[in-house]
Amino acid sequence: MSQQGYVAAPPYSQAQPGMGAYQGGFGSGPTQPLYGHYGGPPQAFSAPPAGKMHLIVLNRTFFLSAITVVMIFSYPAPPAVSAPYGQPPHSLYNSMASPGPPPTQQLTNQMSSMNLGSHVQGLQSPPPPVSSVVQQPFQTPPPLTMAPPQMPPGLQSPHMSPLMSPPQSPPASMPMASQSMAGTSMAGMGGPFPGPPPPGPGGFQQPGLGSAGQFGGYMAGPQQNMPGAFPGAPSAMAGPPQKKLDPDSIPSITHVIEDDQVKQGGQVFTTNIRGQVPPLVTTDFTVTDQGNASPRFIRCTTYSLPCTADLAKQCQVPLAAIIKPFASLPKNETPLYVVNHGDTGPVRCNRCKAYMCPYMQFIDGGRRYQCGFCNCVNEVPVFYFQHLDHMGRRVDFYERPELSLGSYEFVATLDYCKNNKPPNSPAYIFMIDVSYNNIKSGLVKLICDELKTLLEKLPREEGMETSAIKVGFVTYNKVLHFYNVKSALAQPQMMVVSDTAEMFVPLLDGFLVNYQDSRAVIYNLLDQIPDMFADTAESETVFAPVIQAGVEAFKAAECSGKLFIFHSSMPTAEAPGKLKNRDDKKLVNTDKEKTLFQPQKGVYEQLSKDCVASGCCVDLFLFPSQYTDIATMADVPSHTGGSVYKYSNFQIETDGEHFLRDLRKDVQKSIGFDAIMRVRTSTGFRATDFFGGMYMNNTTDVEMAAVDCDNGVTVEFKHDDTLSEETGALMQCALLYTTIGGQRRLRIHNLSLNCSSQLSELYKSCETDSLINFFAKSAYRAILNQPLKNVREILVNQTAHMLACYRKNCASPSAASQLILPDAMKVFPVYMNSLMKTAPLVGSTELSTDDRAHQRLSVMAMGVEDTQLLLYPRLIPLHNIDVNSEKPATPVRCSEERLTDSGIFLLENGQSMFLWLGQASSPDFIQSLFNVPSLAHLQGHMCALPELDNPLSRKVRSIISGLLEKRSNSMKLQIVRQKDKPEMLFRQFLVEDKGLHGGASYMDFLCYVHREIRQLLT
Ligand SMILES: [Zn+2]
Repeated sequence: MSQQGYVAAPPYSQAQPGMGAYQGGFGSGPTQPLYGHYGGPPQAFSAPPAGKMHLIVLNRTFFLSAITVVMIFSYPAPPAVSAPYGQPPHSLYNSMASPGPPPTQQLTNQMSSMNLGSHVQGLQSPPPPVSSVVQQPFQTPPPLTMAPPQMPPGLQSPHMSPLMSPPQSPPASMPMASQSMAGTSMAGMGGPFPGPPPPGPGGFQQPGLGSAGQFGGYMAGPQQNMPGAFPGAPSAMAGPPQKKLDPDSIPSITHVIEDDQVKQGGQVFTTNIRGQVPPLVTTDFTVTDQGNASPRFIRCTTYSLPCTADLAKQCQVPLAAIIKPFASLPKNETPLYVVNHGDTGPVRCNRCKAYMCPYMQFIDGGRRYQCGFCNCVNEVPVFYFQHLDHMGRRVDFYERPELSLGSYEFVATLDYCKNNKPPNSPAYIFMIDVSYNNIKSGLVKLICDELKTLLEKLPREEGMETSAIKVGFVTYNKVLHFYNVKSALAQPQMMVVSDTAEMFVPLLDGFLVNYQDSRAVIYNLLDQIPDMFADTAESETVFAPVIQAGVEAFKAAECSGKLFIFHSSMPTAEAPGKLKNRDDKKLVNTDKEKTLFQPQKGVYEQLSKDCVASGCCVDLFLFPSQYTDIATMADVPSHTGGSVYKYSNFQIETDGEHFLRDLRKDVQKSIGFDAIMRVRTSTGFRATDFFGGMYMNNTTDVEMAAVDCDNGVTVEFKHDDTLSEETGALMQCALLYTTIGGQRRLRIHNLSLNCSSQLSELYKSCETDSLINFFAKSAYRAILNQPLKNVREILVNQTAHMLACYRKNCASPSAASQLILPDAMKVFPVYMNSLMKTAPLVGSTELSTDDRAHQRLSVMAMGVEDTQLLLYPRLIPLHNIDVNSEKPATPVRCSEERLTDSGIFLLENGQSMFLWLGQASSPDFIQSLFNVPSLAHLQGHMCALPELDNPLSRKVRSIISGLLEKRSNSMKLQIVRQKDKPEMLFRQFLVEDKGLHGGASYMDFLCYVHREIRQLLT
């Protein structure tokens, strides 16, 4: 990342420089902190077992009365192991292993009477110009229909592969040749709706009355004419003779990805044109910034906004941007420039406070400029004056990043700093749960050993030899142990705080230190921690006080930073934030299911506020062996820009490396601290809603205690007036933050969009990957307040509505039996169907409540790449791989029918990774990969490939390590054999098939949506 130069600007509010402005963002209100104040009666404490180091025990009284260090303790013998440690660990597969075969009988007639036709629109429609607005004409050529191959009547579920494979190859003139057309159409899909998915959990239910609503855009009235519940009534299904739809003929994500890679891969995307649709997130391309932010920073659901609110309402396509303000740039792209205007700070519009950018129009010989956002005419400050050339452009246009680039930084003045003081260097505090579980599993030792090398690699400012980030250490169970690791000490000192109700930090000097200076003492400490607690019997932990301690430490040191908390169990010890088991599978598929996703109010709510106000980001590494109420425990991380990592039933042998890879990535990430973001827009529309791992004190300021390269904030826009085709629509995202080196900066991203009174322009400029990011986040937020059933209905209805509107307004007339999809959205239904089958939305008692809550929160902070991959995993065939080719293996569709008994496949979705071995896979291949003669010889629980010295092994391992490198999370490799029980885990990611826990196959969903569209159009 470009930690190297950037610049910052003035506060976000309209307040005058020097005052007010900053406060707005940083919740100043001295409301009574829940804890964190000194005072109150002294509490007894029990000393923890400790090793060689000096143990110094303090309590508040001592602290207050300024009696320094009180006693040097001799340690009592730890109590004998008493409490049992929770329930026996259940197998990873427990919850999903044997859902039983999916009911198939309802599905047998599924694909009956489907025809497929292709609307080939202009057979040779040219590829879209790479660096201009996509301008292809929208013609709707007559459909080519094809005679569908006969399907053997109702043999098995269409879910099963044999049935889906076409008995003969489709005619060459077939539909997917039409990929670059304006619209993709399929005839004959309106037929009888195929059999319903199994009723009950996860199936799509009859929409309830009044449940219609929508995400994004404008509320539509209830859609009275959307009856057909997803499972159609079987009686409605009788139809013409059964025919089969060739699965290869329905739009395929893998084709879309491949096509875009062929067209735009390896090319330069220049951002000089307004409303330009960028290559897909999956395409490998290079960006040259020429006035608009790179798509790595901002992507939109459409790059052509409708001119009026009425049009927006009519199409129901959400208008949103997904902003990754700290996105990593590849090495061959220029890092952001930093502009420094010294004490003056950045030039801003007097009225709307937008920062100087390429959308400011200089007039009057360069003495004034008109703001592109609010049209206000401003005087150019004297220091900033420059003459204009014959084009009316400033002659220093190319010398000033803020005049010619989409993204850049300003150095912020003191006006942008807390209390008008320059910030101190940020700090990382490592907080390790040393209760019985973590000691016994070897985790504590693993962490301590890793930190010794990892701390050498803390992120640095570009050009700096060492990191400015300070480090501190805390261990805890029911009490907290702080460590003095000042470089002058021969031995680290431990200080125990047992009063968790009134958390305070017992030392200032020596707690947060420079790693390089204190390396010897820190090594000493990290060596001792595992031994000190080796005999612990303590199984209870606190949690909220641990976070509170971090907040207090940052407050005391007047710095921002991040807590890395390594925690094993639900905090049940008597302390603020104590939790109890409230998991209740009986709530699944009831109106109360939402409570499973809602965090417990009170302590954690207040803690989030405190964290954000003091710039304290929380990353939680969780090692649970049972339910831990992640909905609540992850509440603070999810409001502070932090991440939650979960390793269920952690075992060093199988999960250790996976965890360490995550930890290394996490610690070394490029990151900004104490961040606040504001999105400004030109007149006519504005940002109305925000989704992300952030906190909002008011309706406009997005606060994040920290923001790293993976954090994505999704911003929704609405009209408040008519937009002009001529001037387009502008947005400016300004992120005020503190760098790793402790400098206050403003990072600015600008983007200009087109506006059109033609809906066809909107549909042409849609980006499906961004749309699905928006829908995922809005649906995942909605389930906090609404029954899942309603949320799923809204998703289906809105999908149908968006597509029906296209059909009605943008496609030329054709038979109602044809399904016509806008080219830019032709794979939208696959993603939408996949989204509805994700754990949070599916409503199955077989899924773990914690897993569902975890996924919900993770997705809320994702950018477009991550949601794309999550909702459509890569399934890569390895059995026919060319070991000599540099070309990456081409993924195939995520469907069972792509698997073969002799095949070997790698599947990954950014969170999980599987190596699937067909039962008839070649013994040679198995030998080369595993060094065993056959599948039967494979050991269970293998989680890595052995390092064998042969081309195939090297190739496969390099594919895997390449993926691990590329993704934001590390993934654990799970090796599954066809027909083994764990295969179910793998199969849930075959998202084109019927869901294991409910939800339709892609084909069924498409048919259903088509039926809905037809109903909307009549
Ligand atoms: Zn303005």
